[in-house]
Amino acid sequence: MCSRQGEDENLDEPIRKLKLQNDGSVRLCVKCQENEAKFVIRQNDPFCRDCFLTHVTHKFRSNIGKSKLIRDRDCILLAYSGGPSSSALLHLVKDGLELSKFKKLRFIPEIVYIDEGAALGQSWAQRQEILIQIKEFCERMGMPYYITSLEQVFCPPENSKIKLKLYKNGQGELLQDTELEEKLVNLIRNTKSSTFKEQLIRHLRNDLLDRIARLTGNKMIMVGTGENRLAILMLADIAQGRGAHISLNVGFSDDRNDDILTVRPLKNLTSKEVAMYNNTNNITPVVCYSLTTMGSCNASIERLTEKFVTELHVEYPSTVCNITRTSEKLDVQRNNEVRSKCTLCKGWLDTAVLEASALNALHLSYNLSNGIQEQQVNGEGNCNSNDVDISDHLCFGCRAMAREMNEPDLLPIQMTQPNISLLQKDYIKDFLLEPSNENILNTGDS
Ligand SMILES: [Zn+2]
Ligand SMILES: [Zn+2]
Repeated sequence: MCSRQGEDENLDEPIRKLKLQNDGSVRLCVKCQENEAKFVIRQNDPFCRDCFLTHVTHKFRSNIGKSKLIRDRDCILLAYSGGPSSSALLHLVKDGLELSKFKKLRFIPEIVYIDEGAALGQSWAQRQEILIQIKEFCERMGMPYYITSLEQVFCPPENSKIKLKLYKNGQGELLQDTELEEKLVNLIRNTKSSTFKEQLIRHLRNDLLDRIARLTGNKMIMVGTGENRLAILMLADIAQGRGAHISLNVGFSDDRNDDILTVRPLKNLTSKEVAMYNNTNNITPVVCYSLTTMGSCNASIERLTEKFVTELHVEYPSTVCNITRTSEKLDVQRNNEVRSKCTLCKGWLDTAVLEASALNALHLSYNLSNGIQEQQVNGEGNCNSNDVDISDHLCFGCRAMAREMNEPDLLPIQMTQPNISLLQKDYIKDFLLEPSNENILNTGDS
């Protein structure tokens, strides 16, 4: 590994000694101090190949271990997007399953890939080409896999006769569903800015992932989101009024669904570590595009934040780590009370606020600019009204998104209707007994 001029003065004493031992030409691994260092994660932490792979595997395993959320024989759905991070995740799981008895990962994984080509404006032929590579990679990983497409989110919920199309282990073909595809394209086209289009695709994908997990009997979804991506999402979320859900969106675990837990075991792996891990293991990510991949850096808030974080990572790598660590601590107080959830992002509603609030200011300014008479501005769901406004069941961030849609009714039906059981609980919450108050019944108090 070549070293830059002037770097020696900044090196720690042990590394300076190691360099001197080798006439300044070879840096030794800071961990084993035997092999030649080939991977420089941070300036003073050069690793050899073996120690680097151990370092990445340790981060992944310790995130899982520390959380104590994953037990033996748990069925887990691995969300694979074809990108670098989720490719690395699949490889780390595959390696973990092949380890000897005591170190072996003991959960039962299945892979799912959601083809987003229709939303990104790709042709059917282009999508098929990508699918071939996706199938090849899944088969190389040797785990069962499902393939579906984003437009399947428009399939009516499970109790309907029409079933969501899901293909297991490459059996059968993913056929083009033009009717559903049209609904998806129409919805995206009717959303005004790229910022909200990107957000919308994210929520549609998450909704579909949750449904697939339920359909396939998996209790957990494992995603490969790494540190840089989480830092981008956190800053972009704050910019878009989604501060209340930050710990759900970027923390290790996301428990917004009562029955499906989402975990992020690569949360502290930087994009550089992921790229080096993939390179060492001959993993070539299938090229996947986002809506603003070819656009300018000002195309959307997320794209602009990505540029900012990427540049920050080059100059100050540890700052990116601080962003993600801070985000996990920004948890909202839930107070164990039964609260309604946003029908779109499934986060807790953050709209029960005081009169002097950003929400009401935004609402007032929107009404004034659109010449709408002032109506109800507050509340977690206008349940008594016969004419229920879709935004009554949306959180602050999703309300802003819904305003950018020409026709919010184009959303999949399950994303426009409130969770009935939660609303019912809301109505009867005053008559419910607290779990800790069960004894009151026995003493005859009421
Ligand atoms: Zn080493
Ligand atoms: Zn929401």
